[in-house]
Amino acid sequence: MYDLVVRSHRTVTPEGERPLAVAVRAGRIAALHDHAAPLETAEDVDLRDLVLLPGLVDTHVHVNEPGRTDWEGFATATRAAAAGGVTTIVDMPLNALPPTVSVAALEEKLRAAEGQCHVDVGFWGGAVPGNLDDLRPLHDRGVRGFKCFMSPSGVEEFPHLAPEEIREVMAGLAGFGGLLVVHAEDPALLGECAGPGYAAFLRSRPGAAERSAVERVVRLARETGARAHVLHVSSADCLDVLEAAQADGLPVTAETCPHYLTLTEEDVPEGDTAYKCCPPIRSAANRDRLWDGLARGVLNCVVTDHSPSTADLKVPDFAAAWGGVASLQLGLRAVWTEASRRGHGLADVARWMSAAPARLAGLRGKGGIEPGNDADLVAFDPDAAEPVDAHRLHHKNPVTPYQGRRLKGAVLTTWLRGRPVDDVPYGTFLLGA
Ligand SMILES: [Zn+2]
Repeated sequence: MYDLVVRSHRTVTPEGERPLAVAVRAGRIAALHDHAAPLETAEDVDLRDLVLLPGLVDTHVHVNEPGRTDWEGFATATRAAAAGGVTTIVDMPLNALPPTVSVAALEEKLRAAEGQCHVDVGFWGGAVPGNLDDLRPLHDRGVRGFKCFMSPSGVEEFPHLAPEEIREVMAGLAGFGGLLVVHAEDPALLGECAGPGYAAFLRSRPGAAERSAVERVVRLARETGARAHVLHVSSADCLDVLEAAQADGLPVTAETCPHYLTLTEEDVPEGDTAYKCCPPIRSAANRDRLWDGLARGVLNCVVTDHSPSTADLKVPDFAAAWGGVASLQLGLRAVWTEASRRGHGLADVARWMSAAPARLAGLRGKGGIEPGNDADLVAFDPDAAEPVDAHRLHHKNPVTPYQGRRLKGAVLTTWLRGRPVDDVPYGTFLLGA
């Protein structure tokens, strides 16, 4: 006797799309049966030709609560996540106040999030100058790894690390198997943004700055043995560096984001700083090369880097505006729109947006439709297509570069541990191993 059975001719498993019946008991996937198998169950849902996806895992989300809750908060972020097919987020250690750089700060965040989460939530810790002794206690309390910046972060309470400090952090993490996730831009190669337009902004953050920083990360991984993950790769000039490191067997992985895979500098309307993020959205040719890096597995994760702010900080001046793209609810549709155009299937999308991020953050029980995993499931209509209306999203602030863009796909139902996500928040914290 099962609690729930969800049937689909297009169930996306790690082996590809299959006609299957996913049987759920006590919040977990108990078994996979033939699509039409007669099963004893409390509830039986047949999606027929609609797709059943594993819940997505977005390991790059800035929730901003406590402290900047007017930018985004746990209730709105996790509501948006579920509506976008995301059943697990991992919250970044910065932009909330205090930043998650000590156990006390993490406890404060847990208190703020308590009872508000509509999806499961994990947490990254932060590595900043002077908190080396906080890393092991944060790891023991259950953060999934540590984020650091190699260049100024955009908020003064989360300073970047100097090269020597990164080496110390990585040596420390290597001692307990910790993971470093890195914002990789070399400050020596970043310039002033000389003007309000997009071209000036782009010139101030060249691909060479990313490439140089990634080279350093690779050197330090080789030297210290620590695991490192490069966040939000925007410049395809990093790909050969990453590929060579991976070919050498170094534990270096990398992600990119929906906006780098779908938007281009040519798309940015005059003064529309909803498109401003660091590193920046680059050329169409660069975007094609990122897709190639993804297809070859040099980039393994696609996560949103959802980093919203209030609308007033998105002034129409690329030098002055807040840098961050809001897209938590739209990542799946954005990526699917472009992926399908390029001949990729939903099994690829599930690998990039669910399996690989779950593995990165060490989230056992997440990331795929397989017996034993949590029954995090998404009913998805791959052929729907509708323009985005930012005011109808669950994001707290209706600012997104996808406004008005016609995106493919619609999330119809999201189940978290076998239960449809609704108004009652029952997400849990994913702390620990
Ligand atoms: Zn970020």
